Amino acid sequence: PKPYEGLDRLECRSKLIVDLEQQGFLGRIDEHVHNVGHCYRCHTAVEPRLSPQWFVKMKPLAEPAIKAVKNGAIKFVPARWTKVYLNWMENIQDWCISRQIWWGHRLPVWYCDACQQRGKPGVIVSKTPPARCPACKGQALRQDEDVLDTWFSSWLWPFSTLGWPKKTKELDYFYPTNTLVTAQEIIFFWVARMVMAGYFCMKRPPFTAVYIHGTVRDITGKKMSKSLGNIIDPLEMIGQYGTDALRYTLVTATAIGQDLFLSEERFAAGRNFANKLWNATRFALAQGGDIEKYRVLPKAGKVPGTFSMPDRWILSRLQQTTARVTKSLEAFQFNDAASALYGFLWHDFCDWYVEIAKHVPAEQQPATRAILRHVLEQALRLLHPVMPFVTEELWQRLTEGAPGRAASIMVAPWPKSSAKLVDREAERLFERLQAVITAIRTTRAELNVPPESRPPVRLASPQAEVRRLFETHRTLLQKLAALGEVSVEAKREAVRHAAAMVVDGVDVVMPLEGFIDPAKERQRLQQRVEELTKQLSSTEARLKDRQFTAKAPKEVVEQARTRRAELQDAAKKLSEHLSVLQGM
Ligand SMILES: [Zn+2]
Ligand SMILES: [Zn+2]
Repeated sequence: PKPYEGLDRLECRSKLIVDLEQQGFLGRIDEHVHNVGHCYRCHTAVEPRLSPQWFVKMKPLAEPAIKAVKNGAIKFVPARWTKVYLNWMENIQDWCISRQIWWGHRLPVWYCDACQQRGKPGVIVSKTPPARCPACKGQALRQDEDVLDTWFSSWLWPFSTLGWPKKTKELDYFYPTNTLVTAQEIIFFWVARMVMAGYFCMKRPPFTAVYIHGTVRDITGKKMSKSLGNIIDPLEMIGQYGTDALRYTLVTATAIGQDLFLSEERFAAGRNFANKLWNATRFALAQGGDIEKYRVLPKAGKVPGTFSMPDRWILSRLQQTTARVTKSLEAFQFNDAASALYGFLWHDFCDWYVEIAKHVPAEQQPATRAILRHVLEQALRLLHPVMPFVTEELWQRLTEGAPGRAASIMVAPWPKSSAKLVDREAERLFERLQAVITAIRTTRAELNVPPESRPPVRLASPQAEVRRLFETHRTLLQKLAALGEVSVEAKREAVRHAAAMVVDGVDVVMPLEGFIDPAKERQRLQQRVEELTKQLSSTEARLKDRQFTAKAPKEVVEQARTRRAELQDAAKKLSEHLSVLQGM
């Protein structure tokens, strides 16, 4: 209204009260306490002020971007973010793009004062600075001092970085790309706007998949923040455990798009894995071996008859691992890929194949060396995205001097799984061998059989195929389970004072006389059984308590049940051992 036009807001407020009072409209004046933002420097109260701004009409821009997500041209991983995106886009508001700050792209808007003084709009929007006003031909033009919202520059990022609007080689090659990896808090600010700008400026979406990653939280589930003091400094962790360890731990700890609960101890696992790989490579290199031979293997795609069952087993496991890692990465299941590689490299390769390689007879050594190198070389390539530095270093050493090798593991081809090398038969046989060796090792540990002693073992199976397996791999069994004589029979014979177990239908009998001190072991096992019985009765008491089973979280009750089963198993096994020892 006229009387207040041009007044300072503070003057205006006083004048308003005076006017209200004079005209009899003022009831009473109360004090109110409320929150008002203040300038961080001069502490002046911050107040809203109406001003003309520039807006972009968003509805027409949003239409193709909504369609693209609905028809699957762009997909969100995890899929639940699709709803969030669509909800925003379908309720989109016009976008205020002008900002009153110094830094940024200046608005491409000019004003003609001459026109405006005559009550005309006098606004010129132009890609290039206009020479004169198109209405009055006047040359006195001034550019708007406002700059664009920072996201207005960012939404052009997928193509403006590649030389757009020029038609460059880079733009042609890199646009569109395939996957955008980002955080959920900028799905609207950035992701949605890039899609809209992509359709508007390039007529094509900028990417086909949007992977939304989780948030790093501490082990109790709190978001990490400096003010809470619960942050883990990645640079510190890198210094302590290594860059690859940090990366490995972050990848394995993150299930698809879920938040990640992090504690410092988890990084040690990554460091140990890197050390394990280092040692395995050193072993493979120390064996020497014909570098050409291991390169020929995958091309031929078939296994020479001279390869042993463990050779065929590890090659088969490599194919399965390659297939699983590839599939997991394609589905953005990074933790699954990393765990598959960890299991393969640590357990299959290091725990078993490398140990076997130490004991193969001379005539088989060339094949074993070639396979050691081949399997490791392929697995390092698969692991490269997860642990880039250590894999590059080890791969360089492993393939040194190989003709035609890639300059870096980064550009070496991704391994392919070969169906011809998948050998279910070898896997089945090897698993049987593994089970027997593991059972013997466990029993040795339970009965305190000294590691340097070599007790004999009698195996019995009515199946000729099973007997053949153990006869063929008798030496391996002796070496890996630290045994003396190993006999293989069709029928189990009674043996006095022996530990007996049945593994996969195979009778395994290990005579103990002369290998342990029965009196000492009896005492030790009795003590152990007593401990177990105590633990068992307290667990059982808990499970009988209605309060506990009804009120404790389901997982805790489930844990107690599992614990009870474990204790029962352990107690039963020890009692069996004890009864063997009683007679000795
Ligand atoms: Zn201020
Ligand atoms: Zn003009």
